[in-house]
Amino acid sequence: MNNEHSHDLFTRASRLLPGGVNSPVRAFKSVGGEPFFARRAEGAYLYDVDGNRYVDYVGSWGPMIAGHAHPQVLDAVARTMRDGLSFGVPNALEVTMAEAITRIVPSCEMVRMVNSGTEATLSAIRVARGATGRNRIVKFEGCYHGHGDSFLVKAGSGVMTLGLPNSPGVPAALADLTLTLPYNDFDAATALFAEFGAEVAGLIIEPVVGNANCILPREGYLQHLRELCTQHGALLIFDEVMTGFRVALGGAQQRYGITPDLSTFGKIIGGGMPVGAYGGRRDLMAQVAPSGPIYQAGTLSGNPVAMAAGLATLELIQEPGFHDALEQSTHALCDGLEAAAREAGVAFHTTRAPGMFGLYFREGPVEMFADALASDTGRFNRFFHAMLERGVYLAPSAFEAGFVSSAHGAAEIDYTVNAAREAFAMVRE
Ligand code: PMP
Repeated sequence: MNNEHSHDLFTRASRLLPGGVNSPVRAFKSVGGEPFFARRAEGAYLYDVDGNRYVDYVGSWGPMIAGHAHPQVLDAVARTMRDGLSFGVPNALEVTMAEAITRIVPSCEMVRMVNSGTEATLSAIRVARGATGRNRIVKFEGCYHGHGDSFLVKAGSGVMTLGLPNSPGVPAALADLTLTLPYNDFDAATALFAEFGAEVAGLIIEPVVGNANCILPREGYLQHLRELCTQHGALLIFDEVMTGFRVALGGAQQRYGITPDLSTFGKIIGGGMPVGAYGGRRDLMAQVAPSGPIYQAGTLSGNPVAMAAGLATLELIQEPGFHDALEQSTHALCDGLEAAAREAGVAFHTTRAPGMFGLYFREGPVEMFADALASDTGRFNRFFHAMLERGVYLAPSAFEAGFVSSAHGAAEIDYTVNAAREAFAMVRE
């Protein structure tokens, strides 16, 4: 595989960008080697600057649920941008977007658009603290909620991949206000609330964890957290930046039948443009400036081109059967990979939710963060590179969920499973 142009670009980038990238996991630090540079993308495929083609299971880390460069999304963007890129006054598309989100996710009675998932989660905990008058936040080991100070405590995603779950630069006085729990442990949550319940402003969770590989909630677990929060006057915040509009049209809260007080979104609602959102109960959101005193603002928030891309994507995923088909493709992929691993005699396990999956080089089940950590990352790294050489791009870390889009059809999945047969045989040795 020729990587000449990517190598040149990475050499130039490494002189000027920390690690050669603008977001850490892209740098291939944990899997080794150098990243490839994208030239373009279409449907389920990424094409690099050296002309190599990859079946893409990262999908820009989640937004590209309808496939890359979908013509309807590109048309909406092209039409909208001709009228100007940013106005700094309200525009109609922001209203349409707010109407769409609040209709699809009924727990969101009001919503505020921002520019990233990080902004959404930062703002949501500010609302939780402002509305309750309490300071403590509860989060889960291995969950990632963006790079806000309060969240870089036992975090997942790139921080975990790089072994930096507690980042320098976060004042201890602030980090001390973040309490952490093991995901899926009922008793630990009960005990924490028994001790600190009256001080907890909010509990934030990835309802399906996608930043510590992929871990599904145990039966009744999210309900247990809902009850604890209600009982102790803490707000339940679902971080649906990854799961929103993916694991069901209405996100994990629809799939598992839980009503959070606040929710955060990103990725899919921007259709590939930089977008985030937070929303929830009207009495809480009404406390956000300028209708209330909790301050949060953004020069480019509600950007018309970004709204157009997001709205076009939301339209595509509201087609009847969209999420059922996504779920079936996810199963087909994971079943195929498990069968290929079995044939090769490699210990391997997958976890799945519609449109997202986890790959583990160990036997199942995987229900706790500690189980995820026990995956053989050396094997994963070799598998990653063997797949890459065969034109399949998996997330370049053993601690990230993979994503399937509606553009991943039988042909792409068969291609992937065939590549995996060879890759598993290589990692067995
Ligand atoms: N929350 C979750 C659950 C995420 O997966 C991410 C990013 N992967 C974020 C928040 C942060 O979003 P962003 O990278 O857009 O700031």
